[in-house]
Amino acid sequence: MLLSAESIYRKKIYISGIVQGVGFRPFIYALANKHKLRGFVFNDGNGVVIEVQGENETVFKFIKEIDLSAPPLSRIDTLNIEDIKLKTDDDFTIIESQDTSLSTMLSPDMTLCNDCKREMFDKKNRRYMYPFINCINCGPRYTIIKKLPYDRKNTSMQNFAMCDKCKAEYEDPTNRRYHAQPISCYDCGPKLEFISLMEVCQAQDNEAVEKICDCIKSGKTVAIKGLGGFHLVCDARNEEAVMLLRINKHRLTKPLAVMFENMQSLQKVCKIAKSEKELIVSKERPIVLVKKKKQQQILCKYIAPNIDRVGVFLPYTPLHELILKKLKFPIVATSANLSDEPIIQDQKELFKKLPLVVEVSLNHNREIINGCDDSVMMQVANQNITLRLARGFAPLSFVTKIQKSKKILALGAQQKSTITLAFEGNIIISPYIGDLNTVGSMEYFRQTVQTFQRLYNFKPDIIVCDKHPRYETTKWAKEYIQNHPSCELMQVQHHYAHALSTMAEYALDEEVLAFCFDGTGFGDDGKLWGGEVLLATAHKYKRVYHLEEFALIGGEKAIKEPRRVALSLLFEIFSLDEIYEMQNDFVSSFDKNEIQTLHLMQKRGINSVKTTSVGRLFDAVYALCGFFEPLQYEGESGMIMERLSCEFRTKRKYKFTLYNDVICCQNLIKSIVNETKKELIPAKFMNTLAEMILQISLQYKNKRVILSGGVFQNSYLLEKVVVLLTKNNIKYSVASKVPINDGGISLGQAYYALHQNN
Ligand code: ZN
Ligand code: ZN
Ligand code: FE
Repeated sequence: MLLSAESIYRKKIYISGIVQGVGFRPFIYALANKHKLRGFVFNDGNGVVIEVQGENETVFKFIKEIDLSAPPLSRIDTLNIEDIKLKTDDDFTIIESQDTSLSTMLSPDMTLCNDCKREMFDKKNRRYMYPFINCINCGPRYTIIKKLPYDRKNTSMQNFAMCDKCKAEYEDPTNRRYHAQPISCYDCGPKLEFISLMEVCQAQDNEAVEKICDCIKSGKTVAIKGLGGFHLVCDARNEEAVMLLRINKHRLTKPLAVMFENMQSLQKVCKIAKSEKELIVSKERPIVLVKKKKQQQILCKYIAPNIDRVGVFLPYTPLHELILKKLKFPIVATSANLSDEPIIQDQKELFKKLPLVVEVSLNHNREIINGCDDSVMMQVANQNITLRLARGFAPLSFVTKIQKSKKILALGAQQKSTITLAFEGNIIISPYIGDLNTVGSMEYFRQTVQTFQRLYNFKPDIIVCDKHPRYETTKWAKEYIQNHPSCELMQVQHHYAHALSTMAEYALDEEVLAFCFDGTGFGDDGKLWGGEVLLATAHKYKRVYHLEEFALIGGEKAIKEPRRVALSLLFEIFSLDEIYEMQNDFVSSFDKNEIQTLHLMQKRGINSVKTTSVGRLFDAVYALCGFFEPLQYEGESGMIMERLSCEFRTKRKYKFTLYNDVICCQNLIKSIVNETKKELIPAKFMNTLAEMILQISLQYKNKRVILSGGVFQNSYLLEKVVVLLTKNNIKYSVASKVPINDGGISLGQAYYALHQNN
C-alpha cells in the first residue's frame, strides 16, 4: 500500500531522567527498527533526544512502548513530544554523544546481572571467571565517574584501551554491551593483584583470588577492593578470626555485616520474610538487617553480640561471586576504615592506615573515583526503611514540581552526613559520607561537595545548614558565605528538618503532625532537643509537645554512660536521701561520693545541658534495666532493648501524663524504678512510647502523622506505633527511600529552601 504524504509524521521526543549509560539509545534503536521507523537518537545534556518519522499510528505505538518497556536501570522523569517537518533519512541511527557541559541524572552502581553471571561461570565464554565482567545493565557507575556525560573517557576506565573484540561489542547496537562504558576482558581490562605486607609474594588474576581465599580460610583478616572501597574480610564462622578483626579495628561489639554465597546459605542462619528476600536479592543488594535464628550454629557469637539481628547481604560484584563460590562459607565484610573515618579507597592508604589490622589485600587497578559504602536497610511493617543510603541507591535523584530558579546546596547535620542538591526541578542526595568527627571525614565531606558540583556543573545560590553552631557543616557553610557573598545562607532547625525530609520524599505540602525523636539536635532555645512533636508545613512549624527536660550531667560523657542519664532523671524525682535508701543494684553501681558530685553538678548546672531527647531517655531506661557499662557504639542501648522486648513480650505499659505541651516522664521513671520484673521493662517502656504517640495523634485526628529521627530505627517501637495508628485510622508516613536518621536531614533542609519565596 502506498502511503500518502499526509499520513506520515515526524516527531521530536525529549526524554529526561536516568537515561544515559543505561542502554537507552540501543533500546530506542531496536524499538524504532522493530516498527520500521526512520530517524535518529542522541544524548544531550538533558537526557535523550529522538527524531522519529513514520505513520502516525506506528509513531504513537513506538512512544507508548518507550514508556512500557524501558531498560531496567533507566527511569523516565519527563517525556515531551513536538511535531517537526519531515526529513529524508534512509534508516534509524544512533548519533554519537554531543559533548555538552549540562547535566543529566547519573545511575548508581549496579549488581552483577544474571546474564553476566551466567557468562562468568560458562567455561566456553571468553570472560569465564573474569572478575570485572559487566554490561549495560550492571557494573560500576558512580564510583568510576569523573564528570558527565557518562562516557568511557570520563571514567577511571579511560586508561584501558579496548581490545578488538570488546570494541566490536561496544559498537554493536544489538549487543548488550553496546556503549557499556566499563566493558573489558582478560586482554584489555583491569588486573587483580594479591599483595602481602610481610612477604614478597604477589599473584595476579585467578591465582590472586586463590591466594586471598587461602588466607581467609586460615583465619586471617584480609582486605578486598570492591566497588566503592575496601572491605575487611574474615571467616564469619571462626571465633578467633572475628575476635582478632574486632580487637585490631577497635570495634569490640558493634555488629558486623556478613556476606553469604547465596540465599540458601543465608536462610540457614536467618529467618527471612518473603519481602525481605526480595530486598536482599534486589539489583541494589543492600545490607539488610534480619533476625538471626536462635539455634543457628554457623555464625560465631562475636558477629552481633547481645542483639538478635544481623546485617546480611549477597555478593554484588563478579569478584565477590568468585570468592564466595570458592569459599562456600559466609564472610564478615565490613568497610575498611579507622573508626569514624571514610571508607578506604586506595591500596597505599590501606596499609598506611590499617597496618595492624590487615597484612594481605586483593587489589586491582581500576581506580575508585568516588568512594561509596554499602547501603543498609531493614523492613518494618512491610515497608523498606533506609538506615544508610549508599551503593546501589545513591546518588538518589528525584524530580519535584516546585519551581525555583535558584540552586540549592544543603549540607545535612554532623552525624551520618549526606548532602543534597536541588536545581531545575531535580533533587539529588549524595551517598552516605559518615560522621564528621575527624579530619579525614571532613576532607571526604569537602570532596563530596566538590564531586557533586563538578558532576552537575553546579554553583549554589543558597546554602542550607543546621542551626547547631558547632556542627562542622555549619562552620563550613559560614565560611563559604564569607567567600561567596552573593550566596544566601539558610539555617533549619534539626528536628524540623527531620519532618521535612519525610515530607520531601512523599511530596507532602499539607500540615503534618511530626514526631521527631532522636539522639540530640540543637533547639531554638539553645537546649538539646530530641523528643519533639511538631505541627509542620514546608514553610513553618510549631512545637506542640516535647519530652520533659532533664540534665545531661557531664555533657558528652553522659552520652557514652547511660547510668549518668538515669541518675539525673532520678535527681529530678527523688531527694538524695531517697536515692540512697533505694539500695538497688543501680544505685550501688555508683559510690556515694560520685552521686554527691553529680548531684551538685546538676543542681548548680555545671556542665549539665538540658535535653528533651528520647534517645537519651532510652539510654536511661537501659541503665535502669541493669546495664551499667558505658556504651560501645551509638544505638547500642536501643538494639539491646529491642532484643529484650522480643524475648520478653508483654502488652502492658506504664502510666504517663501529658501536661500542657510536655510529655511528662516522672511517673514513667518511678514505675520503672519500682518494676519487679526487670526483664519486662524494655517492652513496657516502648509500649508506653507508642501509646503516647497515639494519644497525641488522636488530639490532631485529621493530621497526617510523620515518624522521623534515629529513635524510629528501633523496629519494635516503629512496628508498635504503625499498628496503633492503623487501628485508629490515622494516616501516617514513614520515610522509605530516604534515611530515617540524620542521613535524611540534608533533604529536609533542601525541601525547606525550595519552598521559600523568590
Ligand atoms: Zn550484566
Ligand atoms: Zn577486551
Ligand atoms: Fe537527628
